[in-house]
Amino acid sequence: MTEKLYYADSHIKEFTATVLSCEKTDRGYEILLDKTAFFPGGGGQEPDEGTIGDARVISAFEHGDDVIHITETSLEAGTRYPCAIDWEKRFARMQIHSGEHIISGIVYSRWGFNNVGFHMNDEFAIIDFDGELTRQELDWVETQANIAIGRNIPFKAEFPDAQTLKNLHYRSKLELTENVRIVTAEGYDHCACCAPHVKLAGEVGGVKILDFMRHRGGIRLEIRAGLSALADYRQKYESVAAISALLSVKQPEVASAVEKVLAEKAALAFENSRLVKQLVAAKADALPAFDGSRAVFEKDFDSDALRFLVNEGMKKTGGVFAALSGEDGSYRFVAGSEKADMNAFANALRQKLSARGGGKGHMIQGSIAATRQEIEEFFAAISF
Ligand SMILES: [Zn+2]
Repeated sequence: MTEKLYYADSHIKEFTATVLSCEKTDRGYEILLDKTAFFPGGGGQEPDEGTIGDARVISAFEHGDDVIHITETSLEAGTRYPCAIDWEKRFARMQIHSGEHIISGIVYSRWGFNNVGFHMNDEFAIIDFDGELTRQELDWVETQANIAIGRNIPFKAEFPDAQTLKNLHYRSKLELTENVRIVTAEGYDHCACCAPHVKLAGEVGGVKILDFMRHRGGIRLEIRAGLSALADYRQKYESVAAISALLSVKQPEVASAVEKVLAEKAALAFENSRLVKQLVAAKADALPAFDGSRAVFEKDFDSDALRFLVNEGMKKTGGVFAALSGEDGSYRFVAGSEKADMNAFANALRQKLSARGGGKGHMIQGSIAATRQEIEEFFAAISF
């Protein structure tokens, strides 16, 4: 049975241990030590990484009462090696995980909601509660959690005896009866958990509840803690500062300023569409009546404007009236007629000008990869 140093002290970064066995597998080398501070993963927390001698530890897992380490290179059985945990990673994980315990403890004691799902990586944790909370309530939880961190409440981990355990009210995802490790955040939470945590809440640094959404009758929220919360704050600060500079408004006012810009944009789009309609109507008015088929070319007309123009233009045209916008090699078109057979016209357009597109009834639309001259010659030659 591996002696588990991480249970006794969550802050052991370096230690010396003897390799009991080293076996090559397809994942790397499986190393058994007489004792270890490498946490093998569990309780939502990833296994530790680090080094044993010169060998990099890429993962670890529990096998019965033993901890198996996976290394990239082999180690000598019977030899003592200096071992080191990748402390930066481990500490970030302990910050987020311990922050989660404080938050879950507060939610549980205030509303009785359980943490029914927990996933974490090195940057954030996702927590699912089996009850719904509002943003306002979550803000309250966040404030209480940061007060607990500021008060620097102690974290303790113990294996209470069966009697003590029976009388203890604690959070747990499983029905456990023996060897239950209880992690206590003093005054805030008792929770069955196997992972290493901070010793004092102050180490968490701070917690921030980010996004939250309804999830399976409860809510799912994302939290960050410590340096990861700081990195997130920094990134968001830079975004807000940039928007504030672009719009020349104070930072707390960027959301309403963006809202204003979007409203102005919508009003301009509305005004633009009104002016385009006016322009198209004027162009249609100016069109002389014509017996045959004809095409007009318009700069920067969108499909709506082309369609509107064709609607008016076909009334004054005996054959097919087409409006096109674009440039040589890439035109968009709308074409229509009150009398001509638009199916036959579409076929001719496809055959002679490799046009794409189609439509129903009196109007068709699509694209033509031809030059203006080729299109004009086509219209001069047809007899629709
Ligand atoms: Zn935990």
